[in-house]
Amino acid sequence: MLYTNHFSVRRTPQSQPIPGREADMVQNSAGGYVFPVDDWKRLERFLVLGSEGGTYYTKESKLTVENAQAVVRCLKADGMRVVKTILEISEAGRAFKQNPALFALAMAFSPDFADPDTRRMAKTVMPRIARTGFHLFTLAEYVKHFRGWGRAWREAVVNWYNKKPISTLAYQVVKYRQRGGWSHRDLLRLSHPKPATPEHDSLYHWITQGEAKGSLPRIVEGFVKAQEANNPKEVAVLVREYGLTREMIPTKLLAEPVVWEALLERVPMTALIRNLGNLSRIGLLTDACPEVVQKVYTKVTDPDALRRARVHPMSILMALKTYESGKGVRGKNTWNPVGRVVDALDTAFYLAFANVEPTGKHILLAIDASGSMDYSISGIPNLSCREAALAMALVLAKTEQNYTILAYTHGSNVRTLPITPRQRLDDAIRALHRYIRAEGTDCALPLLWAIRSKAKVDAFVILTDNETWAGRMHPVQALQEYRRKMGIPAKLVVVGMVSNGFSIADPNDSGTLDVVGFDASVPQVISDFIRS
Ligand code: CA
Repeated sequence: MLYTNHFSVRRTPQSQPIPGREADMVQNSAGGYVFPVDDWKRLERFLVLGSEGGTYYTKESKLTVENAQAVVRCLKADGMRVVKTILEISEAGRAFKQNPALFALAMAFSPDFADPDTRRMAKTVMPRIARTGFHLFTLAEYVKHFRGWGRAWREAVVNWYNKKPISTLAYQVVKYRQRGGWSHRDLLRLSHPKPATPEHDSLYHWITQGEAKGSLPRIVEGFVKAQEANNPKEVAVLVREYGLTREMIPTKLLAEPVVWEALLERVPMTALIRNLGNLSRIGLLTDACPEVVQKVYTKVTDPDALRRARVHPMSILMALKTYESGKGVRGKNTWNPVGRVVDALDTAFYLAFANVEPTGKHILLAIDASGSMDYSISGIPNLSCREAALAMALVLAKTEQNYTILAYTHGSNVRTLPITPRQRLDDAIRALHRYIRAEGTDCALPLLWAIRSKAKVDAFVILTDNETWAGRMHPVQALQEYRRKMGIPAKLVVVGMVSNGFSIADPNDSGTLDVVGFDASVPQVISDFIRS
C-alpha cells in the first residue's frame, strides 16, 4: 500500500477535505468538499440570482431562508454597506430581477435587523431601488413582514409620491395600479402625505376618492378615456395622442393588431421584448409585414435604448429561447417565429453587456455540463443553468481572440466545443445539448485537461454550481499542479450559477476570483481581473 494514495496535500479525493485545510472547507449539497463563500459574496449571489425555484439540490424555501439569514448577518455586521450594495446592483441593472433587492431592502427597514442609521439610509434610497409602482407594491408587501407603519417606512412612501415630478408620478400611477393586494389608494391612505404641490393634491384626491378635484395630468386623462373606449380604433388614437402603454388599455383590446401598431411607436424596450411572441401571434409581426419586422429589429438592437432601459441580458436570452420556440412558456399560445426577430434578440443579448476591451490572454472557458446544471436558473422555466453558462461563456469569448470552450461532467467526459459567438445562441444551445449526458461532476477536469494537453492558459473560467464531488483531486490542487508543471501563474475565475454558499475557489489564493453568474457586470470584472 502507498500511504500517500490516501493522504496527500497535492491529490485529495473531493469526498474528503484537503489535509490541513479541514477548517476552511465545508461539504456541499452533493457531498464533496469545497470552500464556503462569505456572507457578502452570498448577499451578492442572492441579489443577482435570487432563490426562486431553488436549485437541483436545495428547495426554494430552504435556499431563501439560508440567503435571508446571510442578509441578516450582513445587516448586523454593516447595515449601511448592505444598503449600498443593494443600491449599486439595482441601479447598475446587474440583476435579472428586482425582487431579491426589494426583499433585502425590506429587511434593512426592520428594527430587528438594522440600526437607525441603516434604516434612515434605506428610507433615503428607497425610491431609487423601488423605481416603479410595481416595485413599490412588492416592497410594501415585503415590509409588512418586517415592521409596522413607523416613521422611516412611512416617510419613504411619502417621498416616493411627493418627490416625483407630477407627470412621472402620474405615469407610474396609471401604469401600475395594483399588485398583490396593494394599490396606490392603500399606500396613500396609510402614509397620508401632505401633497407637495396642488397638482399632487388633485392626483391624490383622484386616487383616493375616484374623482377629479382640479386638473389631472394628461396621461390620467388619456387613461380614463381608454377605459371608456369600446373599439380598437378609438383606443389606437388615444394611445398615439396620450402616449399610453399597454397596461393602461383594457386587456380585451390588446389582441387587436391596430392597437399594438400604435403601441409599437413608443413601446418601452422591456415590454417590446416580452411581447414579441404576442405580436407574431396576432399577425402583426410576421414575414408578411416586413416594415413591422424592420421597425422591431431596429428598436430591439438599439444599444442606447437597451442601456437606458437597463435591459438585463438574461431577459433577452429568455425572450430569445421563448420566441424561437414558437410557443408561450405558460398557456397554449403559439406563433410562427420570424428569423430576423431571433437575429435581433441574438444581437441585443451581446449589446446588453457593456463593451469590454479584449485582454489578449489565453482563456479557457469551462462549462459544467453535469446533471445538476440541467436545473432551471433563477426559477426561469425555459432556461437551464447549463444553457445560461454557455451563453455567458460566449459573451466572454466574443471579446477575446484566444479562447477555448470546454464542457465537462466527470470521469473522462471533458471535451472542447466547436461553438463560437458567431453562431446564433439558439443554435449554440442546441449544439451543446448534443454533447451532454446528465451525470456526475468533477470541476477539476478542465484543469486536468489543460495539464494533459499542455495547453497554454492564462486564466481558467469555470462556470458551475460548485457542487463538485466526483473527482480524485480538488480543483484547487489541479490548479496548483497546472501552475507547477506549466510554469504559468494561471488565474482561476469561478462563475457561480446558483445562489448557494459554496465555491471551488480557494479564498486564500489571490489568483482566484469568485463572481456571480449572469451578473451583467461580469465580463468587465473578469476582464479587469485577468489583465491585472
Ligand atoms: Ca453537478
